[in-house]
Amino acid sequence: MKLTNFRFETDADGIALLTWDMPERSMNVITQDVMKELAKVVEHVAGTEAIKGCVITSGKDAFSGGADLTMLSSLGPEYRKRVKSEGEEAAMRFFFDASASLSQLYRKLETCGKPFAAAVHGTCLGGAFELALSCHYRVISDSDKTRVGLPEIKVGLFPGAGGTQRVARLMQTGDALQMLFKGDQIKPAQAKAMNLVHAVAPREEIVAKAREWIKAGGSAKAPWDVEGFKNPSNKVHSPAGMMIWPPANAIYRRETQDNYPAAKAILQAVYEGLQLPMDLALRVESRYFAHILRTPEAAAMIRSLFISKGELEKGARRPADVPPTKIRRVGIVGAGFMGAGIAYVSAQAGLNVVLVDRDQEAADKGKAYSHKLMSDQIMKGRAKTADRDALLARIHATPDYNALKGCDLVVEAVFEDRAVKAEVIRKVQEVIGRRTIFASNTSTLPISSLAENFARPSQFIGVHFFSPVEKMLLVEVIMGRRTGDRALATALDFVRAIRKTPIVVNDCRGFFANRCVLNYIREGHLMLAEGVPAAMIENMAKKVGMPVGPLSLNDEVALDLGWKILQATKKDLGEASIDPRQEALLKKMVVDLDRLGRKNGKGFYDYAPGGKMLWPGLADLQKVKLDADGIDRQELVDRLLAVQALEAARTVEEKVITDVREADVGAILGFGFAPYTGGPLSYIDRMGTKAFVALCEKLAAKHGDRFKPNKLLRSMARKGETFYGRFNPHKAAA
Ligand code: NAD
Repeated sequence: MKLTNFRFETDADGIALLTWDMPERSMNVITQDVMKELAKVVEHVAGTEAIKGCVITSGKDAFSGGADLTMLSSLGPEYRKRVKSEGEEAAMRFFFDASASLSQLYRKLETCGKPFAAAVHGTCLGGAFELALSCHYRVISDSDKTRVGLPEIKVGLFPGAGGTQRVARLMQTGDALQMLFKGDQIKPAQAKAMNLVHAVAPREEIVAKAREWIKAGGSAKAPWDVEGFKNPSNKVHSPAGMMIWPPANAIYRRETQDNYPAAKAILQAVYEGLQLPMDLALRVESRYFAHILRTPEAAAMIRSLFISKGELEKGARRPADVPPTKIRRVGIVGAGFMGAGIAYVSAQAGLNVVLVDRDQEAADKGKAYSHKLMSDQIMKGRAKTADRDALLARIHATPDYNALKGCDLVVEAVFEDRAVKAEVIRKVQEVIGRRTIFASNTSTLPISSLAENFARPSQFIGVHFFSPVEKMLLVEVIMGRRTGDRALATALDFVRAIRKTPIVVNDCRGFFANRCVLNYIREGHLMLAEGVPAAMIENMAKKVGMPVGPLSLNDEVALDLGWKILQATKKDLGEASIDPRQEALLKKMVVDLDRLGRKNGKGFYDYAPGGKMLWPGLADLQKVKLDADGIDRQELVDRLLAVQALEAARTVEEKVITDVREADVGAILGFGFAPYTGGPLSYIDRMGTKAFVALCEKLAAKHGDRFKPNKLLRSMARKGETFYGRFNPHKAAA
């Protein structure tokens, strides 16, 4: 048997070992070729009498990350092509067959009459874990690197190769739904406890264990193919089922606001599938899968959250002619809230950190943050004391700037004060080497003007982190007017080393993320000023897919910060640059009432140990109170998304954003822009530029110039262009 992606051998006991090891790839993925070869192997094992059964393992450090999503996402365009050339019915048949082919292959393996066992080490996710689930026996290594799971939901898909049906037959329905909805990566011990795998063993023993199982007469029948099989939660239509399904529906609504068709399809596939025998259940799953694959939500999420995100992380924006920088030592000046977080993620990535603050006590306080975070990890069983010791040993906390000598990169995170920053830049410059890159974490000061304090402005750049640093995945890398390629390459190498996602933004007020998000918060303020009930503003925002409402978000970042930014904008850009209704609201909240947000326990919400609640006094601040029933809800949700998307479109016109992928990825990772849309530009593209411009004009007529579409959008609307068509990032790269 000639195979390219696998090695196949049979031992003296007649037990075959299929080792998945794709040439020229660091990770195995499921491609058309892999599927063809696997089908050949199944046929061979089933048809060769001398072969008793087969163990599937990987020749790489991980098992596999799953299906090649670019292959899956190419099915949509192929379908549309065929609709034109062959008609709707033939195109649909092609689409259904293609999207069901992996599921059918796995079912063939499961029912071929010979036992298959999966021996898994490392990552085994998505379609790869569905392969393991279709094997009759699964043994996984006890390594820290081993993770199994079905994360498809995170890119707007669901496990369509039997995953929903097999998982729902292995555990209680409620647990299965939770696993499928969350898409978490599951550790070995937990996988065993959930009944997802049969055994956990040291890495060197997994293949032997799988072999032993076959040798001892392991059954070639999955439990659900054995006569008399009962679902773990029994029948769907039963008193027990009634305890599961109505709440499951409610949870689905609460968690998704009905914005994620894939989550609904999971619910439907499991509900219907559990009432059917396996073969029919798999057909039901395939039908839903074919439907989901064609949804704009899946297309947008795959593009932004898988393809673009991956490309940006791998250095799509990195200047190719700068050799990779090996960052060994990073300096961080300012060990406050942000500096402490940056120190932690850097040390966690194995970098040596010099953490400087004004005195030893302040520097130590910053380092103590890492101690706290690691202790939390230890408490949760995710780290050992030795890991904490090793991480802390990599952080040198000191008030002595001389310790910054030898750093490849220095990140400043001191007070947001031009004079303080200038002084710090000067002091750092005195001690660092000529090639060291200097990065500022400022959130509001222009990088180009800060760079004027630095003797080598080409080596000065912005790295804008989001808080809390250890949780937020995005870093905005800000290019000053004179920032050079080596600074950009170093900053991107640093972001990659600490495993975050970078977007590259040209210097401007608010950079990218804050510009968009401040508009979102302002829209909430203005709605409140107009008399919209506060609860309605917050609920509409969540309904349209934002993680938190604008008022709640403002409470998190602090109302006095919003007030300060407003005052600074007014000072720099003039009275007309701000909205007096917003100013009046913030003045009342911050200056008159000292309601600063979560940080002092009172903002738009009241905070108590038991939770938070919208502050009832808000209604008294409203001069007009609109009747909730009379408010156009669609207009509220349009305003909340359009005001952000419009700002994103402006950043493209102003060349603050030069790659459309970055606007979309940055918006989802930076401030949670409704992920099912694929990001603000994908949102506009889906609606159509013409329709979006019309919407903005309608909103501008009613609510003011902040909704006025910019020149770029109007020109794109006239020509019928989309962002991904006009600014196709792949065409630019080619
Ligand atoms: P912070 O007040 O918590 O920390 C600032 C730290 O800088 C303090 O520990 C202070 O002692 C230290 N410091 C001040 N002057 C110093 C000097 N001369 N030498 C050494 N250390 C000095 O502030 P923060 O929230 O961590 O913000 C720091 C920077 O990060 C600011 O530029 C801010 O705009 C930016 N930023 C903040 C956030 C956020 O959410 N807080 C987000 C992104 C960026």
